[in-house]
Amino acid sequence: MKDVGSSNGEMMRRGRVEVVCGSMFSGKTEELIRRLRRAQFAKQKVEIFKPAIDVRYSEEEVVSHEGNSIPSTPVDSSASILLMAQESEVVGIDEAQFFDDHIVEVCNELAARGIRVIVAGLDLDFKGQPFGPMPALLAIADEVTKVHAICVRCGALAYVSHRIVAGEKQVLLGEKQEYEPLCRACYAQAMNEKKEEEQVC
Ligand code: ZN
Repeated sequence: MKDVGSSNGEMMRRGRVEVVCGSMFSGKTEELIRRLRRAQFAKQKVEIFKPAIDVRYSEEEVVSHEGNSIPSTPVDSSASILLMAQESEVVGIDEAQFFDDHIVEVCNELAARGIRVIVAGLDLDFKGQPFGPMPALLAIADEVTKVHAICVRCGALAYVSHRIVAGEKQVLLGEKQEYEPLCRACYAQAMNEKKEEEQVC
């Protein structure tokens, strides 16, 4: 496929990388599933991959918090996606923040083959730091969509997934009882409260 980066009409735009990012509960997996469903309706061959680490609900399916699901393949490393996506026209990748850094080259290579790649992932970890390969994926993307949850404290657009339970490990799979979406101001306030608590103790 030549001239992959060109925007001369829809046909030429097929090989590309789209990234959907945001905090937890922002609806990014729902958005990934929506785009993949539309591709399926258009009779395109769709494959979905997720890191083997994410087995929260189901071994075989990408499941969103809304309960929509699409069959998917858990893979141990990003390199496996290149091998397994040979026949695909559209490749979905969920929970991309858990993949190794090589995922960036994999997405570029797939797009160079004319494949539309749709990546969903957490942009920030619970400390508000860019998460794994996500910053690089955002940089190489043709199109970026940042979706937002609602701050549970003030109702503004959320910015980060604040961890309510104790623990420092970055890879902790999230559920509602462990994380809350917060806006930038409420997150700063929560961090201050935590600091004050630590000083009292
Ligand atoms: Zn807030």
